[in-house]
Amino acid sequence: MIIDTHAHISGPMEMYEYFRGLAGTSGGGAAVGKFAFSDERLEESLKDHMVEVSGAGTDLQLVCPRPWAVPTGDRRAPLILEVTRQVNDMVARSVKLHPDRFVGLGALPQRAGVSPKLCAEELERCVKELGFIGFKINPDPGEGAAESPHMGDEYWYPLYEKMVEFDVPGLIHGGPYRFSREPELGYFVTEESVAGWALLRTPQVFKDFPNLKIIIGHGGGYIPYQVGRAKGFRIAEMARDPSRESLEESLHHLYYDTVLYNQESIELLIKVVGVDRCLFGSDKPANGSVIDPKTGHALNDIKQYIDAIEWLSEADRYAIYEGNARQVYSRLKE
Ligand SMILES: [Zn+2]
Repeated sequence: MIIDTHAHISGPMEMYEYFRGLAGTSGGGAAVGKFAFSDERLEESLKDHMVEVSGAGTDLQLVCPRPWAVPTGDRRAPLILEVTRQVNDMVARSVKLHPDRFVGLGALPQRAGVSPKLCAEELERCVKELGFIGFKINPDPGEGAAESPHMGDEYWYPLYEKMVEFDVPGLIHGGPYRFSREPELGYFVTEESVAGWALLRTPQVFKDFPNLKIIIGHGGGYIPYQVGRAKGFRIAEMARDPSRESLEESLHHLYYDTVLYNQESIELLIKVVGVDRCLFGSDKPANGSVIDPKTGHALNDIKQYIDAIEWLSEADRYAIYEGNARQVYSRLKE
C-alpha cells in the first residue's frame, strides 16, 4: 500500500474569493457568513485531483488545506478562526465523498504574534468531530514578518501539549506570505528549514514532549544538504557542554517527507536522515505536476525515484511507503 502523507485539497475557488473579500474589509468585526456550496460543486472541484492521483500508484492520501487557505497574517482572530473552520469543514466533506482515497489533516487558526493557545479548540474539534489525524502547521504565521518566535521556543508549547494529548502529528509547511524577496519556491523551504533547525538546536522540546511528532515538509527543506555545517557547530557546542546531544540524535527527533522532485535529492535525504525517518509524500497535485519532457513523467511522481534506488531493501521501501506513516499517524485506521 502507498500512503501519501503530503497533499492539499483546494475545494471551490469561489469560497476563497469570498474569504479574500472579507480580508479586504476594514474594521475589527468582519461578519463572516457561512459560504455554502453543494456536494456536486465540491466533487467537481476535486475532479482533476482525483484523475491525477489515481495514475500515480497512491492508495491513500493524507489531505490538508492549501497552504494559502488561512490568512494567518490578518490581525482579526475571529476572521482567521472562521475561515479556518470553514476550510477544515470543506476538507472533511471531501474525505466523506472519497473515504477510500482521502484522510483529513487540518489547518489551524494561527495568528501572527499571538499564542497558539487559540488553536487548541479547533484542533480538538477537528479530531473529535471531523476525524482528522494530524495538522499542517505554518512555522511563520507572520507571513514573512518576524512576529512569531521560532519553533524551539516555549511560545509553541500550548500547541505541542495539545498535539501530544491527542497524538496528532504536525506537518511543518509554509503558508501565505506578503513580501517580494522570495518566490514560493524559496520561501516555503526556507521557513520549513528555519523551523527544523530551531527544533534541532533545541532538543529540550523533545525532552519536554517526548511523544511530539513533527514532519518537516518538502524533504526537510535544505536541512539534509547542510548537515555537515550543522555538525560543525554541534561538535563545538559538545566540547563546551558534554551533556549536549549529537546532531545525529537531534536529527532523529524529526521526520521528513519525500516531497522532492529529483532522484539525487531523494537519495540524499534518505541517506542522511535514515529510512526510519522518511514518510512518502508527493504534494500531488501542485507545481510538481508538470511533465518532465525528458522522461514523460510528472516531476511529482515520487514513486519512480524511490523505486529506482537500488540500495533500498523491500523492508525499507515498505517503511517509506506505508510503515512509517502508520507509526507516526497513530490515528490512521487499518
Ligand atoms: Zn504542500
